[in-house]
Amino acid sequence: MKSHTLDSPIFESSDFSPGALFVVEQLQQRGFDAYVVGGAVRDLLIGKHPKDFDVATNATPEQIKQSFRNARIIGRRFQIVHVRVGREIIEVTTFRRGHEEERSEQDARASQSGRLLRDNVYGSLEEDAKRRDLTINALYYDTSSHQLIDQLGGQADVLGRVIRVIGEPAARYREDPVRMLRVVRFAARLQFDLESDTESAIASVRTLLRDIPPARLFDEWLKLFMNGFSAPTFKLLRRHELLDPLMGEAVSCVREGEPALDLQQLALANTDRRVAEGRPVTPAFLLAALYWPAVEASAEQLTVTGESPIQAIHSAGLQVVQQACQHLAIPKRFSLAMRDIWDLQPRLERMQPKKIKDHLAHRWFRASFDLRLLREQTDESGNNCSGFWIDQQKRYPELVGSARARREGRGEGRPRRQRRNRDS
Ligand code: ATP
Ligand code: MG
Repeated sequence: MKSHTLDSPIFESSDFSPGALFVVEQLQQRGFDAYVVGGAVRDLLIGKHPKDFDVATNATPEQIKQSFRNARIIGRRFQIVHVRVGREIIEVTTFRRGHEEERSEQDARASQSGRLLRDNVYGSLEEDAKRRDLTINALYYDTSSHQLIDQLGGQADVLGRVIRVIGEPAARYREDPVRMLRVVRFAARLQFDLESDTESAIASVRTLLRDIPPARLFDEWLKLFMNGFSAPTFKLLRRHELLDPLMGEAVSCVREGEPALDLQQLALANTDRRVAEGRPVTPAFLLAALYWPAVEASAEQLTVTGESPIQAIHSAGLQVVQQACQHLAIPKRFSLAMRDIWDLQPRLERMQPKKIKDHLAHRWFRASFDLRLLREQTDESGNNCSGFWIDQQKRYPELVGSARARREGRGEGRPRRQRRNRDS
């Protein structure tokens, strides 16, 4: 095994969770190789506490399952084993090899028959390391002998703060275009630089992201935007022109210097702040803010053709959600919320006395009011109604967002008109 040139860091056993230590030890006692792998080792090297621990081994899923009392094989395409140790769940995977090593005729046939077989081709640690995405994610730590196994220079890259794709970047992106998003996610989160080929290859293959199923892109979107680093991530996505395949032109068309970009960036910064403070965040608000400039622009066109502002926002919202869903499979509970948040915008502007309580009670009043605030902070035009709504919230604090509770209490529905025609 190639040894690395830098000194191995010897982590303390206490750096690892009891579950991770137990799983490695148990597998090793049965004669298998087992290592803590991936994000946990990377995070420990940086000095961060890992959020979870994954283990890689040469035991097959069946053998892993037999080694523990409480273990479950999950996944069809690629089997992994969840081992429960106390309250912890440790994800254990068998060493696999990637596509490069799979060129024998038999394997090629297997691949043609679909992905199911392809991803379950087991391999050695060396092969397992090479099929991973980034050098910094291909580090293995033996918690018994306290050895770091670093075949691909991952430790040097962690220390040098570099994101480097393993192998030839363009080829690895072609194999799985989502890796481009992962590169950006780790760069933003860790504040690492992109190695030059890792960076330059993106331009030649970024359009391949359009072939990724919207459901997978939405999963990835959540990891990109809901983890507390959405502002730097957004910036990098823009810089590498990855925003367009991810979220569509509706979000990516906003230009530098436009108030719409300030609004998007403020919404991202607010979301990150909330995550840092441990407060709840909803994808609905952030999506509503990021797509707002598109809704506003399209509503403006509709008002020219004679629609009322309220009707125009409603139609534009529907249109924008439909466009967005061609890229991201936004679950209905979020897309309905986005449209509610938008629908309230012109209503808040009207400040109609007899609607005050209804609007305050609306489930998405707070989010809609927050969007209103962002709009006023970033664009001077338009009326300034946020002061009015701050006063109303002080006047009726118990009403804010109470619609659902009220409805359940009194067995009533929301005004019917708003609920009809929800076709997306
Ligand atoms: P996080 O702290 O965000 O969980 P992580 O490195 O554990 O970071 P995961 O998304 O949990 O990232 O993936 C686990 C490991 O699986 C990664 O470290 C990487 O080695 C590998 N991996 C995940 N996705 C891919 C991919 N698309 N291509 C190649 N390897 C991947
Ligand atoms: Mg992980």
